Amino acid sequence: MTEPLGSPGSPRRRNRLRIVDELRRAGSASRVELIRATGLSRTTVSKLVAELQADGLVVERPAPGEGSAVGRPPMALSLTPAAGTAVGLDFGHAFVRVAVADLSGTVHAEARRDFDVDRDSAAAIDVAVEMVDEVLAEAGMSLERTVGVGVAVSAPVVRGRAERGAHILPGWPAFAPVDELEARLGRPVLIDNDANLGALAEVRHGAGRGAAAVLYVMLSAGIGAGLVLDGQLVRGHRGLTGELGHVVVDPGGAICRCGNRGCLETVAAAPALLDTLRPLHGDDVTLERAIALARDGDEGTRRLFADAGRAVGRAAGAVCNVVNPDLVIVGGDMVLAGEVLVDAVRDGIAEATIPAIRDDAGGAAARLGDRAEVLGAIGLVLAETDTAAIAGLAAGAAQNAVA
Ligand SMILES: [Zn+2]
Repeated sequence: MTEPLGSPGSPRRRNRLRIVDELRRAGSASRVELIRATGLSRTTVSKLVAELQADGLVVERPAPGEGSAVGRPPMALSLTPAAGTAVGLDFGHAFVRVAVADLSGTVHAEARRDFDVDRDSAAAIDVAVEMVDEVLAEAGMSLERTVGVGVAVSAPVVRGRAERGAHILPGWPAFAPVDELEARLGRPVLIDNDANLGALAEVRHGAGRGAAAVLYVMLSAGIGAGLVLDGQLVRGHRGLTGELGHVVVDPGGAICRCGNRGCLETVAAAPALLDTLRPLHGDDVTLERAIALARDGDEGTRRLFADAGRAVGRAAGAVCNVVNPDLVIVGGDMVLAGEVLVDAVRDGIAEATIPAIRDDAGGAAARLGDRAEVLGAIGLVLAETDTAAIAGLAAGAAQNAVA
């Protein structure tokens, strides 16, 4: 039985927060690591950890073996889903993806459903709400313990609102997914552009781990980019950083959905590639089919991905000359075409950068594949949620445990 937590500023509550905070940050830690990280005494850490365990907020398990640091002790402490849950939602053009994670960002369940989001955004919200319920239930988590819902959308996001306009998301004119989802789920909802969130996830959990400056390029039905410097997304004046798809690469080229002529998207995004493939492979050719053709060695399709990759690389290279990243990561569903695309992006970067910058920037395939955006949506919630708010939930859990 635990004693009351005391006033918000009490040393006991503060120390408890430090332990919760450290477990959030590290994902898992031994008692010795907690003592080192918090500066608290062995006695205090042992007592508070025992309390958190009794409250059902912390659990002790064998430390994850694969990929963990060498010499880590065999048992490690981590937060349980009862300490708080983060929900991630990714609205692609043609699918909805949902994942739920604990406060350290470990995903406990996820699902993806094909859905024409562009055509019917209201129904897409219905699908998302239904999937959130299902995935939370599968993970044994609840909306009550959810600290927030992160949402990735394929549209520019300005001050927490998706920009409206038929040219951006055809089916989402005059529609506010944040308000609708907050009303339906009753939890705080945060939204960001999908390329920004993919960038965040690749830096935290994927190919960009340990890199200080990362340019993430998302190649899909559109082309976007996310720029992360010192672990932070660069948003720019209005939050529109990363509209790489609208860099003009052919001033006499096709008219773009943005109204300009010859944007990168008109030559290198999936719809442009499919337009080229239709006369050869039929009107119903899909990106999936194009990727399969390229992987099976179809020369024309491989050339198409290579040309697209080179154009993307040259545009990304111009950005590299300005921001000098350690790494360029290529993500989005087009990256499933494999090396033919990623190598071409690398070649394009090499053509467009000064040697010293080229040596740094490299170019690597995204490691999280098409999950990067939903994982980034979870990351957004975790980054924006402060530990005191979580401890409010933790205190609630403690009271429930006592009751
Ligand atoms: Zn454009």
